[in-house]
Amino acid sequence: EKSRVAFLGLGHMGGPMARNLVRAGYRVTGFDVVPSALEAAQAQGVPVAGTAVAALAGADVVLTMFPSGQHVLDAYRGGAGHPGLPAEPGLLAAAPPGTMFLDCSTINVDEAREAARLAIGAGHRSVDAPVSGGVVGAEAGTLTFMAGGDEADFEAVRPLLEVMGRRAVHCGGHGAGQAAKICNNLILGVSMIAVSEAFVLGEKLGLAHQALFDVASAASGQCWALTTNCPVPGPVPTSPANSDYQPGFASALMAKDLNLAVNALHGTGVAGQMGALAARIYDKFAAEGGAGRDFSAIITDIRGALEQ
Ligand code: NAD
Repeated sequence: EKSRVAFLGLGHMGGPMARNLVRAGYRVTGFDVVPSALEAAQAQGVPVAGTAVAALAGADVVLTMFPSGQHVLDAYRGGAGHPGLPAEPGLLAAAPPGTMFLDCSTINVDEAREAARLAIGAGHRSVDAPVSGGVVGAEAGTLTFMAGGDEADFEAVRPLLEVMGRRAVHCGGHGAGQAAKICNNLILGVSMIAVSEAFVLGEKLGLAHQALFDVASAASGQCWALTTNCPVPGPVPTSPANSDYQPGFASALMAKDLNLAVNALHGTGVAGQMGALAARIYDKFAAEGGAGRDFSAIITDIRGALEQ
């Protein structure tokens, strides 16, 4: 018997993820506080409900795909909420004991642990399972899930995750999925800035993009930011640089994830200077018009600063 899923948060990611579950034969009821998101999901064949609590009826899994940890905690607890959040009981109180609370949003590690503590305290089960792969991966069902929680609970949700994604990795206890996600994206943000600085320096030194690429991609500078998401057009024809930096992975989302990493650096006392600097660089870029551009467009910012 397949799980019955209440899918809450039908945005850019949640919409196509819910649709893929429906196509795989899961019984899904969706809900979103934004009517247009609800309607779009419905048009894609996802049955929807008028409230979150109504979506929970008969569900054994409550899957959330929200913008932030505050949204997740507010929805779990109920009561005071964000504008547009219906004043109805919290999800934890509304669900029958033993319900699986599966949060796939990208949130702070501390918030993920708090969400798990609250869920377990209310007699439920809890797994954090943020994703990488973006909207393209959500549409195609090729996401990678990074999960935190008990082994048995991870195994219980694995079939669901493997419908929405290609790979699901159990990373450890509660919060470990979020930890893996932000540690990975710290590497990614810092390495994209480094690759971009190297290309701009190369330009000033008279080094052709292709020459630097040919050397670094086969040498110790090799990394995903260079060989897959190359910030200059040419060497990797599929990289967003070749299509005016259309995302891909938007700079606003990189800024969000780097700030989650910075929160974790502060919380743990780790002196992560590069992560903190990368967060500031992406915050500034996003605030000054780069928010919707691929994060590799940071190279245009580095070049621009040079010309001033
Ligand atoms: P989004 O803003 O498009 O979707 C979030 C949805 O949640 C919105 O439609 C919002 O109305 C809804 N929502 C908020 N509170 C709610 C509540 N209490 N009940 C019901 N619905 C509620 O965001 P997204 O791009 O789909 O991202 C979702 C999460 O996935 C974020 O945490 C993001 O960081 C993460 N993520 C996004 C991407 C990406 O490329 N977009 C990639 C990986 C991870």
